[in-house]
Amino acid sequence: MVGVARAGRLTMYRNLELEVPAHVVVPTCAKCGAEWIDEAAAKALDEALERVYESKLRTRLDAALEKILSEEEARHAWSEFSEFRLATCPS
Ligand SMILES: [Zn+2]
Repeated sequence: MVGVARAGRLTMYRNLELEVPAHVVVPTCAKCGAEWIDEAAAKALDEALERVYESKLRTRLDAALEKILSEEEARHAWSEFSEFRLATCPS
């Protein structure tokens, strides 16, 4: 067993597939690459993944909010334009 910290390790956390942060050390078999999640590794993984999970949710939330706000803006712009047309168009 050797402690391995590297990028590109994916794991399921709650309902998302997340990348294990590159700095998290996971005991790994030097021969076959099997990971051995002992109590300390589990704790480190949990804490690291919780942070990744939260920032991922925040990113998604930001994207969703941005979309809602820009749609809202477009609606306002359109209704202002329509009101302007109603006020100025003689027909
Ligand atoms: Zn092995």
